[in-house]
Amino acid sequence: MTKEVVDAVTMQRALTRITYEIIERNKGLRDLVFVGIQTRGVYLAQRLATRMEQLEGVTVPVGSLDISNYRDDREPAGSQTNVDTSELPAHLNDQHVILVDDVLYTGRTIRAALDALMTYGRPRMISLAVLVDRGHRELPIRPDFVGKNIPTAQDEQIKVSVSEIDGQDNITISSG
Ligand code: 5GP
Ligand code: MG
Repeated sequence: MTKEVVDAVTMQRALTRITYEIIERNKGLRDLVFVGIQTRGVYLAQRLATRMEQLEGVTVPVGSLDISNYRDDREPAGSQTNVDTSELPAHLNDQHVILVDDVLYTGRTIRAALDALMTYGRPRMISLAVLVDRGHRELPIRPDFVGKNIPTAQDEQIKVSVSEIDGQDNITISSG
């Protein structure tokens, strides 16, 4: 059974609210960098950057992080490809990096993203923005900015659709 839990308008509003929260919590916006976690995190990061431009007239660089080589729980050791498709802004040192992902679950992806990010530079600060927090954390990781908390059972799946690749914006939950 699949149920829509967030429609397009609500999803846009959540991204706009996150942008306002980022503006409120950062005195200067000049040292911000959005880093989206591939795949959908990158599109969400671009959305935040677009709103930031509209609201504040500030251009925040957007990077794309490939963490496939850093996950400790997906592929058997040694099977990683070593191909890294990350595209990060040249300058991360002393910047405030806001990691962006679609769904936060156990926290292992974010742990891996922190490892990956450190190979590109030394940010002054790293924050985390997620569109959906579905619970079930296995590591001491919490988001700074959340679009929507959606408590889930372990066997439920959240689907985040973004118009850039899915033809529509929405969030659905399915079970069974
Ligand atoms: P974690 O590493 O926190 O266990 O899982 C987060 C990562 O896995 C995110 O990059 C997210 O894209 C993906 N993920 C985990 N659970 C879900 C889910 O229910 N739906 C979607 N769309 N992605 C999920
Ligand atoms: Mg993902």
